[in-house]
Amino acid sequence: VSDAGTFAGTCLACGAPGCREIYRSRGGFVVTSLGEVRRGELRTALCHACGHLRSSPIGDLAAYYDEQYRISLDSDDDDQLYAVVDGKRIFRVEHQVATLLALAPPAHGARVLDYGCAKGASARKLLSARPDLSVHLFDVSTMYTPFWAKFVTPDRWATHRTPDAWKGSFDVVMSLFVLEHVEDPVAMLAAIRSLLRPGGRVVLIVPNVWANSADFIVADHINHFGRSSLGALFARAGFVIDVLDDRSFAGAWTLSATATAVDSPAKPPQPAPALAPDIDGATNIARVWSELGDRVRAFESANPGTAAVYGSGVYGAFIATCLSDPDRLRCFLDQSPFRRGKRLMDRPIVAPDELPNDTKALYVGLNPAIARRVIDGVESVRRVAPACFFVEA
Ligand SMILES: [Zn+2]
Repeated sequence: VSDAGTFAGTCLACGAPGCREIYRSRGGFVVTSLGEVRRGELRTALCHACGHLRSSPIGDLAAYYDEQYRISLDSDDDDQLYAVVDGKRIFRVEHQVATLLALAPPAHGARVLDYGCAKGASARKLLSARPDLSVHLFDVSTMYTPFWAKFVTPDRWATHRTPDAWKGSFDVVMSLFVLEHVEDPVAMLAAIRSLLRPGGRVVLIVPNVWANSADFIVADHINHFGRSSLGALFARAGFVIDVLDDRSFAGAWTLSATATAVDSPAKPPQPAPALAPDIDGATNIARVWSELGDRVRAFESANPGTAAVYGSGVYGAFIATCLSDPDRLRCFLDQSPFRRGKRLMDRPIVAPDELPNDTKALYVGLNPAIARRVIDGVESVRRVAPACFFVEA
């Protein structure tokens, strides 16, 4: 790429200059955190001072979140499955709240704010576990207020801007899977800091790309935080990190931090976590996704004609965005009845047995651990016999 390295600049976490581009998408489409495919280009830069990964924002983000970023607006409790433990299904929101309560249990009657709460599913679950808490809600959109009205009164919510009366009043501000979306994480943490009472805590969960490399290609995740860059960011924003762990929530960082008093003497610098693993890991993840894109295009030129993608999740969507000629893509196949009837990249998502008879190339966008076994069991694939591309060579 002739202008490689031009997407550079100041690190959003530590503020150091000289971030360098390590990844650029090709083909003119990107995947979002909701699994949608949108027109755009994803560029990602790495900070060599703290290991932070920063992506180029897609389009007009403010309008995207206000009008288009519709998380599960269809119903009250279409929560995603997190894990099955001893035959018991654990849901994502349920586990977020359990993690929060284990990490920083609020005192009886504490004032808690869910900052960037979307429908407020976590806040609602928290309130049912702890009815003594004074739970407040905030988000940058008005479209969630019908959901909020089901469990809190309007004096306990705000949209777009927090009321002045909230300043310095909260014991705990929780923010679950929000900070990765913002273009100015220091400003968001400063806003949270101003809402906390002295000694109050912020509790966050953010994706950990080092544990879940699919997060790397999610175009609206502007920030990919590592242990080192979280340390740099929170110190800069006036917090001391009390707990930072990568085990409580799969594929994510869980963090609890206390706001430092404005007039307190400067803390002695804490030992910086090792930077090399973050740098090496990020470089490796960028290379793996770039090489997957190159393999898709090599397979595409060797197998011209009508194509389909098996799987409409992150892998399937990513493969579709890599095609040099997306016009040849006819449909996505998906086993899930919840995905069928929807569209991705303006193509229908259909059942596996609806693979078009003239399909010449089938791109298998499934977890490599199960992909070949799943495809071997699909009758339509045996009948049509397209050339099959797998994520793992
Ligand atoms: Zn940095």
